[in-house]
Amino acid sequence: ERLLNQEAELNEQSFEQSLRPQYLKQYIGQEKVKANLSVYIEAARMREETLDHVLLYGPPGLGKTTLAVIIANEMGVNVRTTSGPAIERPGDLAAILSALEPGDVLFIDEIHRLPRTVEEVLYPAMEDFCLDIVIGKGPTARSVRIDLPPFTLVGATTRAGSLSAPLRDRFGVLSRLEYYTEPQLADIIERTAVIMETEMDQQAAGELARRSRGTPRIANRLLRRVRDFAQVRGDGTITRDMADYALELMQVDRLGLDHIDHKLLKAIIEKFRGGPVGLETIAATIGEESHTIEDVYEPYLLQIGFIQRTPRGRIVTELVYRHFQIDPLMEK
Ligand code: ADP
Repeated sequence: ERLLNQEAELNEQSFEQSLRPQYLKQYIGQEKVKANLSVYIEAARMREETLDHVLLYGPPGLGKTTLAVIIANEMGVNVRTTSGPAIERPGDLAAILSALEPGDVLFIDEIHRLPRTVEEVLYPAMEDFCLDIVIGKGPTARSVRIDLPPFTLVGATTRAGSLSAPLRDRFGVLSRLEYYTEPQLADIIERTAVIMETEMDQQAAGELARRSRGTPRIANRLLRRVRDFAQVRGDGTITRDMADYALELMQVDRLGLDHIDHKLLKAIIEKFRGGPVGLETIAATIGEESHTIEDVYEPYLLQIGFIQRTPRGRIVTELVYRHFQIDPLMEK
């Protein structure tokens, strides 16, 4: 089963990769981020310099990795990709940095999860393009400085707040990615359908967009699943009815909330009278990791006004009772 899961995961990854826009003009939405980046990129190119370090932050699936690759393509350089948890020791990072070509982009996903000792190697690398390496131990230890090729670090994080101040301060460009609007998601879905050579009604694209939680990754995943249903249960064309039918079976509701969102919201209502309740308590109650709730589920529920954060914990709002057609007075 583990092997099957791994295969499914790889499949999903190569699917995502095949859909990645390669240049800024193919990247849909995030207009402010694109406008600024294109200026910085053009300026760096005119001066024949490397681009300043860029920090991209926002919820998962909004296009941070995609943007890192686009930055490299626009600069005409290579991109080397890694992630915070994958770099365990300072030596691992030193090896990656010294293998870069001048001007390359180094993309570090989940950069807030870099171990502190590794982070410290990054400071002089980002600032002066050099490594300070300590050779030997105890009284004979000495530090040597090694020059690195100039490079652009693109860091991605779901939480800018968990980044240490010294690291955050070393980025010249900080860009926050926003949830996508329905029309933007519909454009992304239509683009994906064209790439997959699938026929789709415009209304179906709209319905999928409405249920994608503002997130391109979710939009593309839902589209892929709905295409399966259309192929097996229909004539291959994705109609509005087919989309509705498939989404219902996948337990994705009218607002795009899935069974975990439901479990979370209902737990707050049923077990904690609508809150306030602490994140850890919610996590323990529904059997999910608290950081998954915080990074993946909560941001969208906050965005649509379904939950609010208070100093004493999370509360659900009136909107949730209405969505589930529960009378709040009956519950309280
Ligand atoms: P993140 O790194 O923020 O988790 P990714 O860059 O991996 O997100 O994007 C997830 C998927 O969504 C990718 O397959 C990508 O093709 C698609 N995607 C993201 N942003 C856009 C966009 N602006 N336009 C078109 N497709 C996008």
